Amino acid sequence: MPRIGESLPDLTFSAPALDRHADLREEEDLLSRLLADPATRVVEVHGDRAVVRPDDHGRPALVTRAPQPGDDAGLAIYLGTPTGPSPVGAPPAYVAVARPSDDETGEQWRTLREVGALLRPVDAAVWVTAQGVAHWHRDHGFCARCGAPTEVARAGWVRRCPVDESLHFPRTDPAVIMAVVDDEDRLLLARGRGFNSIGMSVLAGFVEPGETLANAVAREVKEEVGLDVTDVTYLGDQPWPFPSSLMVGFRARALQGRVQMQESEIEAVRWFTRGELVAAIGAGEVAISSRLSISRRLIEDWFGGPIDSPEVTIRAR
Ligand SMILES: [Zn+2]
Repeated sequence: MPRIGESLPDLTFSAPALDRHADLREEEDLLSRLLADPATRVVEVHGDRAVVRPDDHGRPALVTRAPQPGDDAGLAIYLGTPTGPSPVGAPPAYVAVARPSDDETGEQWRTLREVGALLRPVDAAVWVTAQGVAHWHRDHGFCARCGAPTEVARAGWVRRCPVDESLHFPRTDPAVIMAVVDDEDRLLLARGRGFNSIGMSVLAGFVEPGETLANAVAREVKEEVGLDVTDVTYLGDQPWPFPSSLMVGFRARALQGRVQMQESEIEAVRWFTRGELVAAIGAGEVAISSRLSISRRLIEDWFGGPIDSPEVTIRAR
């Protein structure tokens, strides 16, 4: 199924592969009913890890299993059913369960960063959603209003405070990420503090309260490199569960070329022509973000096709 707004096709994590059936979350006994049904697919997550096994084609596949006794003892989250036609019968319901530890099995526990770009869309959607919601639960055990311990409700999608009855919902923090180009169609890349010595990326930053996405693009570019931009154009967006962002990708045009770096955040900035970028990557002077990321896809969208670049982690930490 094509994505809505497909300027950056097949972005990792962005396929609409899961029908979330949010209405079902209201059912009081939904999880106990699903966890009693052997057709339900249970995926175990531990922090940012889940179990992966190669499929028949050698491609990493998220391991799921039938429900087991005790699955409802800890956190369980109803994720939904895969979209599209099902090979046999009704599409299975997916439920994530949080495991306290990953060291009880000989299985291969991997991270999304390691295998995310290789997963089938439905596996990626299941894992991204499970990890994002589970992470939010881990950090939001207490009521933000009164401090009392909260309880999980609505099939894992809400925490309820038993003292003041307030409801708390999983958070997603919007961030903008933008390919800034100049009038000669050169691309601006920057090395942030915390990158390794050759890592470079397009600019990015969090949206602040009271701000539109386009205004956040303009503010971040001005703050980080001192440039005014115009023609801010949406290209695509990507959930980024490390831990809870939504990266919204744009192209923007700089009104002037003279860069003034914000040295507390940025270590180096450079305008690249396509030829210069290929040469710098080839010479090992520059490394760009992983294929997983919208950062890479924004760079390749400007470039006009895939860029041959070794997979390296551009963040030093
Ligand atoms: Zn409370």
